[in-house]
Amino acid sequence: MIYVMSFFIFLIGIAVGSFLNVVIDRLPLEQSIITPPSHCPHCQQRLRRLDLVPVLSYLLLRGRCRYCHAPIPRYLPAIEAITGVIFLLFFFKYDLSALWLISALYSAILITVAAIDIKDGIIPNKITYPAYLLAIILSLLFLPPQGEGMFVSNSLLAALYSSLLGGAISFLILFVPCLVYKEGMGWGDVKLAGLTGFMLGFPSSLAALAIALISGGIMAAVLLLTGRKKRKQAIPFGPFLSLGALAALAWGQNIVNWYLGFF
Ligand SMILES: [Zn+2]
Repeated sequence: MIYVMSFFIFLIGIAVGSFLNVVIDRLPLEQSIITPPSHCPHCQQRLRRLDLVPVLSYLLLRGRCRYCHAPIPRYLPAIEAITGVIFLLFFFKYDLSALWLISALYSAILITVAAIDIKDGIIPNKITYPAYLLAIILSLLFLPPQGEGMFVSNSLLAALYSSLLGGAISFLILFVPCLVYKEGMGWGDVKLAGLTGFMLGFPSSLAALAIALISGGIMAAVLLLTGRKKRKQAIPFGPFLSLGALAALAWGQNIVNWYLGFF
């Protein structure tokens, strides 16, 4: 039964990933997400159902358009597969619960933001602002992961407080480097950090930020040392913030407890 469920969850994940691709492609261009129907950007041919099966179509078509044989960007099946795997990991962690649903919803938002930041170097307010509202409301309804451990938020008010505090602190921590290093960090990053704080609540939000800064720092060092990036070239920070938030959604409280164990 667990295998059937896992497979079903993975299918939901890749289907959601397929929708995220539409958002990732069209939202930065200010295009409608609903119309026109999916088409090949090269030959404009409208795609049929068989061309749009997540991951599978890409593999069966060997990464090329059925009609004009232009290569299909690799990130399309990658986003689908990543979404499927992350939905599955949260299912192993939280079963089919409200926490799974929230984690899946937050992953969808974080994957979209990370992909748009890598592709276009922006973090759209059209995603972050509505997501602020969503995260604050969900903190009230479901007592997300911050409800365990150090700050036991067994009341609605405590959960709301945790969410607002997490958002405010993450926002402030990135606000200063954004003012000082103008090229390195943008306003979009600061606003996204605030969003991860609202989602995770305090203190899990700090675990997310720590993972983002450490993984981003390591990646920057590797890219500079191997000469793949010059010193002045910006490396998008959004993907690392998203990665940190995803890890903290699963293990935030464990990471905080592990860290506090040193004192
Ligand atoms: Zn084509």
